[in-house]
Amino acid sequence: VTDGARAAIPPERYAKRLADLRDVASERGLGALLVGVGPDLVYLTGYRAMPLERLTMLVVPPIGDPSLVVPRLELAAARAGLGTDVLIVPWEEGDDPYAVALTPGVRPGPLAVSDRLWARHLLGLQAHRPDTSFVRASDVLRELRMRKDAEEIELLRAAAHAADRVVAAISAGRLVGRTEADVAREVRERLVDEGHEVAEFAIVASGPNSASPHHEASERVIRAGEPIVLDIGGLRGGYGSDITRTLWVTGGDPALGPDDEFLRLFEAVREAQGEATSAVRPGLPAERVDAVARGIITAAGYGEHFIHRVGHGIGLETHEEPYLVAGNDEPLVEGAAFSVEPGIYLDGRYGARIEDIVVCGPSGPIVLNEAPRDLHVVTG
Ligand code: ZN
Ligand code: ZN
Ligand code: ZN
Repeated sequence: VTDGARAAIPPERYAKRLADLRDVASERGLGALLVGVGPDLVYLTGYRAMPLERLTMLVVPPIGDPSLVVPRLELAAARAGLGTDVLIVPWEEGDDPYAVALTPGVRPGPLAVSDRLWARHLLGLQAHRPDTSFVRASDVLRELRMRKDAEEIELLRAAAHAADRVVAAISAGRLVGRTEADVAREVRERLVDEGHEVAEFAIVASGPNSASPHHEASERVIRAGEPIVLDIGGLRGGYGSDITRTLWVTGGDPALGPDDEFLRLFEAVREAQGEATSAVRPGLPAERVDAVARGIITAAGYGEHFIHRVGHGIGLETHEEPYLVAGNDEPLVEGAAFSVEPGIYLDGRYGARIEDIVVCGPSGPIVLNEAPRDLHVVTG
């Protein structure tokens, strides 16, 4: 259909991820990694399993091959959904799935479980291993998942471009006289038309609502002479899109353009977003990106009105590591993908935000979104 739409993760990449993970399990003396349904399972095998009370679990032991424990009735779905060859171990109704999961190759040592594993499953496992310590698999997986490879970057780029086109369509109007909720419905429809599996959010924050960063689209009617913060995204090809643009609606009346304060505030956001993006390079502490944006906004006199971190990682999840926030001094790694999204919010009046998805390239930023970042004036 469109650019990069059919980029996909090749089977040998999944095999490599599984092999790397096994090596880490071995180095750390783990009994096994136990990965339940969720983004970690997708990352390792491509399998987008349904989250169910019946256990589906990838078991990665420190020696030997991984296996996927699935309920018998999910066997066909698992075969169809796996992106690479993994031994499938079905369990029957009436079996104890936790006993089955703890059999194939699991060694003595701590068991590392994925973040999204349901408590009922973790408790089921713990009942079988009362003397074993359970640790977070994400301590290991985060380092792998943070470094996006070429195919993942192409998938993120395709998702970003799809969202860019939705922003362009919405910015073309008409907006005056419509409710925020109506525009949000159009956003969701267009994201799906552009190939998203899921439209996760459609923030349409008009007038005073633009001062609330996570405003829920409401029945408020959009009027001429006010800004709209549009923050939209979802999953496309399994990878996240997330873009924010700020519009100003005039309804065609030049007298209803942005006032001086809004122009000042917007310029500060724009400069902060551009400079923070330019600062991105491997080795830079994540919090520095936040500090660059905050420095510019503070110098413009709006420091206390920039009330959130500058960005979050994105990949198989629309919010994941790394978080670009004061206190996170972890260096950015090549291949890390994240949002850069400073904003200024004047409570009760209005606000502005600009957000792009940026990849930390070998020598600097690679900006995936292409929608223009200027204050777009909508006449309709
Ligand atoms: Zn947000
Ligand atoms: Zn966003
Ligand atoms: Zn975001």
